[in-house]
Amino acid sequence: MPGYFNAEDLQAVRERSRIEDVVGAVLTLRPGGGGALVGLCPFHDEKTPSFRVTPSRGFYYCFGCGEGGDVIRFVERNQNVSFVEAVEYLAGRIGLQMRYTDLENRSEPGLRIRVLEANRLAEEFFARALTSPEAIVGRQFLAARGFDQQAAAQFGIGYAPSDGHALRDYLRKMDVADETMVKAGLVRENGWDFFQSRLLWPIRDAGRSTLGFGARKIFDNDRIPAKYLNTPETAVYKKSNVLYGLDLARANIAKKNQAVIVEGYTDVMAAHLAGVDTAVASCGTAFGEDHARLLQRLLGSADVRAGEVIFTFDGDAAGQAAALKVFNLESSFTTQTYVAVEPSGLDPCDLRIKQGDAALRELVGRRVPLYRFVMENVLSGFDLERSDGRLQALRAAAPLMSSIRDASLVDGYLRELAQLLGMDINEVRREVGDQRKRRRNPPAPEPAPDAPALVEVSSLPVPNARDPRLEPQRGTLRLMLRAPEIFSADWNQLTAAHFSHPAYRAVAEQIFSAEPAGRTSPAWPHLLIGDGTDVLVARLIVELSVEPLLRDPSPEYAAEYTTQLLLAELSGRIEQLKSRLQRTNPVSDKPGYDQMFQQLVGLESKRKQLRARIG
Ligand SMILES: [Zn+2]
Repeated sequence: MPGYFNAEDLQAVRERSRIEDVVGAVLTLRPGGGGALVGLCPFHDEKTPSFRVTPSRGFYYCFGCGEGGDVIRFVERNQNVSFVEAVEYLAGRIGLQMRYTDLENRSEPGLRIRVLEANRLAEEFFARALTSPEAIVGRQFLAARGFDQQAAAQFGIGYAPSDGHALRDYLRKMDVADETMVKAGLVRENGWDFFQSRLLWPIRDAGRSTLGFGARKIFDNDRIPAKYLNTPETAVYKKSNVLYGLDLARANIAKKNQAVIVEGYTDVMAAHLAGVDTAVASCGTAFGEDHARLLQRLLGSADVRAGEVIFTFDGDAAGQAAALKVFNLESSFTTQTYVAVEPSGLDPCDLRIKQGDAALRELVGRRVPLYRFVMENVLSGFDLERSDGRLQALRAAAPLMSSIRDASLVDGYLRELAQLLGMDINEVRREVGDQRKRRRNPPAPEPAPDAPALVEVSSLPVPNARDPRLEPQRGTLRLMLRAPEIFSADWNQLTAAHFSHPAYRAVAEQIFSAEPAGRTSPAWPHLLIGDGTDVLVARLIVELSVEPLLRDPSPEYAAEYTTQLLLAELSGRIEQLKSRLQRTNPVSDKPGYDQMFQQLVGLESKRKQLRARIG
């Protein structure tokens, strides 16, 4: 949106928002060579990292799905907000007040920004209310679970007053529109506060923005019977995509390559206070595929099987069912999944109260692989002392084995099963194979191929990056974007016509039409991407700006590429002219023929010169 923000401010946002920090809040980045950082792409599903961030250039680019751009673009795509909102968000992060050049048309900040701001104010309000006289039951509840005032502050715990309009009245005073409060899920359509007389936990994203709240009943006469109540789905709160404690655990998850999943808010608190600082919990819903993906990106290891995801389940039937459910998640996730079961049946919060911090750390230390836990559970219903009991157990466990999607893992599991049963591995293998055939079990659907996440479409054809015939065009653009200073002021006399591929030509046009002063600006390639830039053109600008150069940039390097393009264009013109000459009658149209012939001689000699230049 050119001319909308003050240009200096916009530049400051780009320069001061470290792209590795902004992206790093969403996924874990590891050194990827050449000064770049790599991680698992947040825009498409993948198991090996093809998402690259180049901090020195301020760009990100995914070699899997082609999504790429600068830090503003990343926020736009990741938070699904407009350009203006993304800039406002980044400015807020670095404490910059944006100046607008077009105050007349200044629109209201977008819904997402307004909702986050309302949540922030609400969180402050609730936290203050926790110290009010009426919140004593809430404070007692916390104290009984081993949480003092300091812990309450650390986790941002609050209290929703019983008044019914207290939050609405406060937010009105803070200039929050009624409509925004409703959209944030803080106030109901009928004007009543959504949360009343409850203890509240703010649920934040990895970047510490508060997305919503989890609320626990503390009074017997609560009008809502449910023990837990969560913010309804809003523009920012999607229950399948939030994890409580992520703001605190995020950095530790990356560092330790481990995440611990517990069940409740107080369990997360207990875990962190006991030193298990990678603990998170799903909020008001079972742990699902989206949560798994979210964690996998944060673990972000080059080898996804290296990271550990540890579930703490109750040893009871519900816990076993929950474990089975996790087992049915994607198998690559299952292989790195462990289960920590407390034999006494205490949840982490109670365990800490009764046995102390060390007991909680030991619980996590006692983890066993999830598949073994599940298998042992299945087998425990049979008498393995008897041969018919062993056979029945094998038949019960076989479907589990045949449901494993990753064929490379099956053999190891079969071996383990044979050991648990005390049976011959071949017998086990035969039974599992038979069952698979008998049930004609259609294999589980393959995970969707890494699908491009580009939603917007370009009318331009996508050039094949490995096409050697297009390399002179691609290489020239790469140099123009990476090192404009090695070209002459008139871009070595190149014009858009020297680029035959429509997409490359469009990129070239973008470069040639840029203000000359922009070439020396630190924001150089960024300046070429505006709000109206074709999505493919923008993508190519980013892609080419981060592609490695084969040599150090120099005017000679630029000349080599330039000459190839000039030559190609010249050869095209020569061919055309020759063809016209052939169709021209040298007798009846002597003047025309002679003129063309002269032209041809001129072009041929120019071509000779050019060829001599590149030897
Ligand atoms: Zn991608």
